[in-house]
Amino acid sequence: MSTAPAVVVTAPRRLVDGRERVTLNTAYVKALESAGLVPLAIPTMLAAERAAAALAAVQGLVLTGGEDVAPARYGATPHPRLGDVDPVRDAAELALIAAARARRLPVLAICRGIQILNVALGGTLYQDLDSERPGSVVHTDETSRHAVRVEPGSLLERTLGARSASVNSRHHQAIRDLAPALKAVAWAEDGVIEAAEPADAAAPWTVAVQWHPEDLTERALFEGFARAVA
Ligand code: MN
Repeated sequence: MSTAPAVVVTAPRRLVDGRERVTLNTAYVKALESAGLVPLAIPTMLAAERAAAALAAVQGLVLTGGEDVAPARYGATPHPRLGDVDPVRDAAELALIAAARARRLPVLAICRGIQILNVALGGTLYQDLDSERPGSVVHTDETSRHAVRVEPGSLLERTLGARSASVNSRHHQAIRDLAPALKAVAWAEDGVIEAAEPADAAAPWTVAVQWHPEDLTERALFEGFARAVA
């Protein structure tokens, strides 16, 4: 009998071939299964309390990539270059984050995940990096990579086993004001925050990254998450 722990993975709705479907990139499934976990896809179209209820059955939470967070969630008005938003997804993921914190569950937050986590804890976002914070690093090109500097002594450094990394980058938003409960632990060369974790070292295992480790098959992050979940 398997004892592999299960984790909730947020799965958004997408229009595919003219029909709305619940979708999840298989890269997340492969990365989590390889790390010894059972990923349970939870539709983010669920009512917030239903989504949060799903956490009762699992040992961790993975927040996946996707739409922009609705700016109203952090007290901003929409920028002209704001992308698609899904307020229902925002509500479901905010409820999942609150429930995970209440149960002190490990959280791995990826791309949009770092953004919604920051907003959940009181932070704000750049709605469009190119127009609000133009810099030397290309963050939006799916085919490009950029370097990140990792904070020495951070949970991220211990998990990756490295103080620098080359990461993929396909985000047009990023953390603007960091939530008080978080600390930045990785930056691109232009200073954009690329990873965050709890400021309180006694907090449950939480790593949030702006890149897509599932596509890099960056095993260290998923294995670190799995150790925290087990
Ligand atoms: Mn980037």
